[in-house]
Amino acid sequence: MKHIVNLSGGKDSTAMLLLMLEQQMPIDYIIFCDTGKDFPQMIKHLNLLASYLMSNFPNAPRITTIRLEVDNSITVATGQIIKQSNSKTYDHFMFEHIKTKGKNKGKKGYGWATMLCRWCTSKLKTDTIARFCKQLGDDVIHYVGIAYDEPNRIKYKPNYRYPLFEQHITEKQALQYCYDGGFDWDGLYEHFDRLSCWCCPLKNLKELKVLWKFYPELWAELKEMDDKSYNKFRADYSILELEQKFIMEEK
Ligand code: SF4
Repeated sequence: MKHIVNLSGGKDSTAMLLLMLEQQMPIDYIIFCDTGKDFPQMIKHLNLLASYLMSNFPNAPRITTIRLEVDNSITVATGQIIKQSNSKTYDHFMFEHIKTKGKNKGKKGYGWATMLCRWCTSKLKTDTIARFCKQLGDDVIHYVGIAYDEPNRIKYKPNYRYPLFEQHITEKQALQYCYDGGFDWDGLYEHFDRLSCWCCPLKNLKELKVLWKFYPELWAELKEMDDKSYNKFRADYSILELEQKFIMEEK
């Protein structure tokens, strides 16, 4: 039986990991799936967390980073602190990949994800994690950081466990637990309730405005990506239209 902690690096999975270590729960792997589009502050947080684990829990497994590469291979790096994220694969599938089947056969790039086609979640996260775990055999338990006040996100499957939910720890408590441990993501949680890829087109307007206002370098990159994409960032707004809207609102 292998016990796998799914670490996104956000407050809930970080709190879950710290809690599991303190409670001496079994852990064989701590896996972080790198889509290449996490906030730079998240990568910094993962570095800090890796150092914290080495100092405070020397017998715990090191963080394993898994990443899908352009050639469909998977890079697995264990015990190395993540220096920087790598967005090559994301950009490849978004702009370059030629579809070989389906109604869009021959089309170049998946473009921006939509609610109906979250290609990046399935390709870069779910399938990549599944491929990694398959090598570990069938006897695997996944630990997922879902808080007590998010019951709708729980999937009742025999090989999934939710320590925060099981111990009635809310999102707010999870965040405070991380802050108390010295983790603050350089203030990301003062701006966002939930962290995901900084370029995610499924963010709501409030989150996008925060990105525009406080993270101008990422916003500039988002504009470049939108220029290259065959589809619009959102059905209602391109990045340029969003920018104009936010400027007007600020006036
Ligand atoms: S957070 Fe958004 S951009 Fe990132 S993988 Fe999920 S759907 Fe795609």
